Amino acid sequence: MRALALMYHDVVPPGDFSSSGFPGIGADIYKLEHDDFASHLAAIQAARAGAPPALVSGPQPLAPPWPLYLTFDDGGASAIAEIAPLLEQHGWRGHFFVTTGRIGTPGFLSAAQVRELDRRGHVIGSHSCSHPPRISACSWEQLRREWDESVHVLGDILGKSIPAASVPGGFYSRRVAEAAELAGIRVLFTSEPTTSIAILNRCRILGRYGIWRGMPAAVSGAIAAGRRSPRWKQTAWWEFKKLAKKICGNQYLEIRQRLVR
Ligand SMILES: [Zn+2]
Repeated sequence: MRALALMYHDVVPPGDFSSSGFPGIGADIYKLEHDDFASHLAAIQAARAGAPPALVSGPQPLAPPWPLYLTFDDGGASAIAEIAPLLEQHGWRGHFFVTTGRIGTPGFLSAAQVRELDRRGHVIGSHSCSHPPRISACSWEQLRREWDESVHVLGDILGKSIPAASVPGGFYSRRVAEAAELAGIRVLFTSEPTTSIAILNRCRILGRYGIWRGMPAAVSGAIAAGRRSPRWKQTAWWEFKKLAKKICGNQYLEIRQRLVR
């Protein structure tokens, strides 16, 4: 079986990029404006007429089409202000991956809002504690802490176990997944554009297709419909970035920041 997952971040009022999520132009490129996001959802609805988005915690389809998961990283305040209401207009629910060290700080969800999203049927997962710039470069002890503590914080807020997470910054490595699995994570989303599902002990590892500002709604619709060409484009771009990360090592983030500017 394969799965399709879309990776969104924040959704903000026109031009108000600082209202939700991490600040800075590097983060802003992932923030969609309200009307654009509404168009993306309409395109997804048209593409998935008989198979609405699913939740990893819910029943999984036993036959094609592949399940589609809508995911939202970082835990910005727009999760409850903008995203959840728009999803719910379609009768859908999403996966919100929360950076627990930011809970209750400006631009991010409060503990009460995390609880409210869960109460409304959305899946709350971990996105680490501190959102390290390069989680794959963390020591084993740091990795264990990032996953264990974030899962505990969310578990305390919600009074239940937290089986889902997403990898911050897309810096996946096997160690990152091993530490997540030891923290109780059973579904880990990466940023690798793939429909393949990998298994690491008790954890399923799923890729995602990233959506950023300026990307036409038709792209989300085409990916949701299972079309190949937008997926191939993302795979080609991903392979290029992977090579750049390998060649540039620690300087990759600095170079990326300069290019974004
Ligand atoms: Zn993130």
